[in-house]
Amino acid sequence: MEIAEIKSLLSLAQVLDHYGLKPDKQGRLNCPFHEDKTPSFQVYWKTHTGFCFYE
Ligand SMILES: [Zn+2]
Repeated sequence: MEIAEIKSLLSLAQVLDHYGLKPDKQGRLNCPFHEDKTPSFQVYWKTHTGFCFYE
């Protein structure tokens, strides 16, 4: 499921909660879309979006 898709269906907070994801104070968490050992997924609460920095 694409971020853009879930974004249109639920609030970001609901999505993260659904997957049991808990961002830290900086809004970072281990990316749910690939094997992630260090948090590379940034959550932007203001815009209700998230972005994976993993290359
Ligand atoms: Zn990722």
